Amino acid sequence: MTGTVVAIDGPSGSGKSTISRRVAAQLGMAYLDTGAMYRAAAWWCVRDGIDLADTAAVARAVRELPLEMMTDPRDPGIAVGGEDVSVVIRSTEISTVVSAVATNLEVRAELRRRQREIIDASRGEGGIVAEGRDITTVVAPDADVRILLVASEEARLARRAREIHGADDEGAIEATRDQVLRRDADDSTVSSFQVAADGVVTVDSSELTLDETVDAVRGLIETVQAGQR
Ligand code: C5P
Repeated sequence: MTGTVVAIDGPSGSGKSTISRRVAAQLGMAYLDTGAMYRAAAWWCVRDGIDLADTAAVARAVRELPLEMMTDPRDPGIAVGGEDVSVVIRSTEISTVVSAVATNLEVRAELRRRQREIIDASRGEGGIVAEGRDITTVVAPDADVRILLVASEEARLARRAREIHGADDEGAIEATRDQVLRRDADDSTVSSFQVAADGVVTVDSSELTLDETVDAVRGLIETVQAGQR
């Protein structure tokens, strides 16, 4: 049997990274965080002092990005030129500028090519859970399982506020707005992840606990796998 390819998209704060990692670990599959690839690209350009509005210069830099993605869901590292960037790419500075890099169409073409290589390699192994904004629609529209993970704006803001500020009071939520709503609005100009495309199943996690969401996603994958046997 060839490995199952699972594509999961969703807006910021929908919980897709946490859910995808857990599901991949439970099912013995690889895990690909495509958002981390865009973050690493942004970090690389910022570090080199490249003007992010200079689309040709950014595209050139990203084509040469010495990126290494580790796909073990229990320890999904990411390195650039041998340097571990897993933590630094999650900074507020990078979250604020990443959309400028991710809306560069030449950058998208380059990272999409690399994402497809990783996904294709996993088919001969245990399969993969790949998550992002355009995996169900553009990167892997032929995936065996395609899921759009959504949550209400309120739930997404509260989750991100707890993650970044350790609280979900009014002040923390206000401080999180740019990282959730503005970023999603910018990202929506190049990817469609607010409404499920044909054949994509929507899972709404607003009223579900983490475990319940993991179980719902796992159930969808196991149903497809049972049909393949
Ligand atoms: O998921 P995460 O918040 O880490 O994604 C960071 C950014 O990467 C997103 O805001 C978006 O700009 C970009 N992204 C994308 N396409 C993907 C995954 C992420 O444009 N498939």
